[in-house]
Amino acid sequence: MDLIIKHGTIVTATDTYQADIAISGETITLIGHDLSGDATTRIIDARGRYLFPGGVDAHVHLDTPVMGTITADDYQSGTIAAACGGTTSIVDFCFQMPGQSLGDAIAGWHVRAAGKAAIDYGFHIVVADPTAAVLEELAGLPAQGITSFKLFMAYKDALMADDWTIIQVLEQARQSGALVMVHAENGDAAHLLQQRFLAAGQTGPKYHLLSRPPRIEAEAVARVITLAEFVGAPIFIVHMSCGEALDELVRGRARGVQVFAETCPHYLNTSVEDLDRPGFEGAKYCYSPPPRQKSDQEMLWHALANGTLQSVGSDHAPFNFVGQKELGCDDFTKIPSGAPGIEERLIMIYQGVHEGRLSINRFVELVSTAPARLFGLAPRKGSIAVGADADLVIWNPDATLELTPARLHQRVDYTINQGRHVRGLPEVVLLRGKVIVADRDYVGQIGSGQFLQRARFGQAMQ
Ligand SMILES: [Zn+2]
Repeated sequence: MDLIIKHGTIVTATDTYQADIAISGETITLIGHDLSGDATTRIIDARGRYLFPGGVDAHVHLDTPVMGTITADDYQSGTIAAACGGTTSIVDFCFQMPGQSLGDAIAGWHVRAAGKAAIDYGFHIVVADPTAAVLEELAGLPAQGITSFKLFMAYKDALMADDWTIIQVLEQARQSGALVMVHAENGDAAHLLQQRFLAAGQTGPKYHLLSRPPRIEAEAVARVITLAEFVGAPIFIVHMSCGEALDELVRGRARGVQVFAETCPHYLNTSVEDLDRPGFEGAKYCYSPPPRQKSDQEMLWHALANGTLQSVGSDHAPFNFVGQKELGCDDFTKIPSGAPGIEERLIMIYQGVHEGRLSINRFVELVSTAPARLFGLAPRKGSIAVGADADLVIWNPDATLELTPARLHQRVDYTINQGRHVRGLPEVVLLRGKVIVADRDYVGQIGSGQFLQRARFGQAMQ
């Protein structure tokens, strides 16, 4: 044995218990009491600490061109920030550019990650230009370990997929064993409202919010669930933000549609008032869907606790306030849409454990176990079990921190959680048996993250 972690409290999606964990090479080889190694075995004492499986973030955007600029974190800074926040696997969105083949898009994404990734990573493919050749190309992706396809119902004249495209992609996914992910907002309706506001000279960040009311999201959620129902394919709805949309999710599932969904920490922690901050500050909170009412936050927490929502992704899409968000200072439709959060995801959801909203096991399920299963990474990732990768977070439940950009590793000049006092932090993080974070700082080997060949949807669900 190379390493034994002693005296910690192991927390999985189903159990909480005290035991020692033995690691050989990259794998957990034994879980038991009073484990001992030989003279060469390293011992880590985790007394008074929780041991969680490494976080799995299935919704991130690194080194990605968006609205004429590029996300502020590349693979190096983004995955270091993820690691420091307790995440050891990400699934990033590989964007197809107009006219590009999916193969070329994927090759470009491998180049972005190679030699830079500090944690393990996989890709979803974003279908942006759905020609007949591209739709055919989809069928071959699961064999390359890319088992999820992403579509946007928002962003008219750019990424927006019409119903026929959605149906064709769902049908391809059904046949090849992939899972379709959807950004559900009615892009045509949002476009109309945007044009009206701009024509009236209403250009500030709060019109981003007013041009994307909850019904615009709820309509798209209802529609795409219906399309998945017709095709007979499973579907995953990303970043759900409000009660109206949750109602449609519940209705679809009640009809027997295999529909899964996530929310993101920013919908639990920011609200419409943030868009009304003085000056241009509201731009920091411009993401799509936009922040909602406080009452929606409550509904989302309940949906996380009771199983209506399956997982939490960060939707990390970082743009500096200075120089990037400012691109939209005269026109809210030009504000790059997104916010940072890859490092704060576990921390912010863990606050729900403190506040009595979630059990600690449900917390682990939402940030690690469920996304690993849904996106074909289980049983290697997402749990603490013999034979699993030794991706572990040693978590100090009593450590506190005031969140500021300076205390985080994300390469971006603000945090939407500015000034928040949080309790419970990752202290030590292991990736496949190696300590990569100690005392909340990255101590690993840049480039040691590996590409994850993901299993087809359902294969790892049992
Ligand atoms: Zn996203």
